[in-house]
Amino acid sequence: MLFENIIIGPIHSRRLGNSLGINLLPLKRKFCTYDCIYCECGWNEETIGNKVDLPSYDDVSEQLRRRISELKAEGVSVDSLTFAGNGEPTLHPDFPKVVDLVVEMRNEHYPNAVITLLTNATQLSRPEIYEALMKLDNPVLKLDAGTMAMRNNINKPTAEKYSFDELVNNLIRFGNRGIIQTLLLRGTNDGKTISNVSDEDFGEYIKLLKKIGPKYVMLYAIDRATPEKNLEKLTVDELEFYAQQIRNEGIDVKVYG
Ligand code: SF4
Repeated sequence: MLFENIIIGPIHSRRLGNSLGINLLPLKRKFCTYDCIYCECGWNEETIGNKVDLPSYDDVSEQLRRRISELKAEGVSVDSLTFAGNGEPTLHPDFPKVVDLVVEMRNEHYPNAVITLLTNATQLSRPEIYEALMKLDNPVLKLDAGTMAMRNNINKPTAEKYSFDELVNNLIRFGNRGIIQTLLLRGTNDGKTISNVSDEDFGEYIKLLKKIGPKYVMLYAIDRATPEKNLEKLTVDELEFYAQQIRNEGIDVKVYG
């Protein structure tokens, strides 16, 4: 499912309440440094680096201002201004500038709302992206596996430069300023068995969480159609079982089944 607009909603979300989405990605295709086997946007069409049509800063600014004034006129509340959409928001060349705009709009119109970013964290090595994330209330950073092999099987990075070691080091550096988001699943893809809840992988994942020390962890399961069909949705009881193992290490967890 692809989002067809720059500004989306607000949509009611269990995690975020009334969430006004900001999609800085192309409107007709996914653009991401990962190609997760469960991605709700489907597979990447072309390799990263090919020309993509991203919305301009001016279009984002104009549409966000217009939508917020409509919502204010209708008396609609917003709990979260949320960077999400058809891929990885931090790939937009003006991402830091858009963050400043959204902070300004939030402060002016919805001072009690939080600003949320759903990101795969592959761009955290770039100082300007790291700095921009520091300005957000809810930077939600993806970590789906405890080992490089399982991360590569699940998230399918589009280039070798998105190394697992660098990702982990950046997550550790970001520490308790970030929320870690993890989708738990089992299945097969490309003839390989996939499971980030095997004793081996989940054990390594918990070790990484202890090094990162996140604000908290969001655990969730597959919710919508996935590009790889041979994937199993974990039950809420299973998510709670794994959440408890993380809580046993003193790390807070929220479960979204
Ligand atoms: S990081 Fe997000 S947008 Fe990118 S492939 Fe994975 S699920 Fe899709």
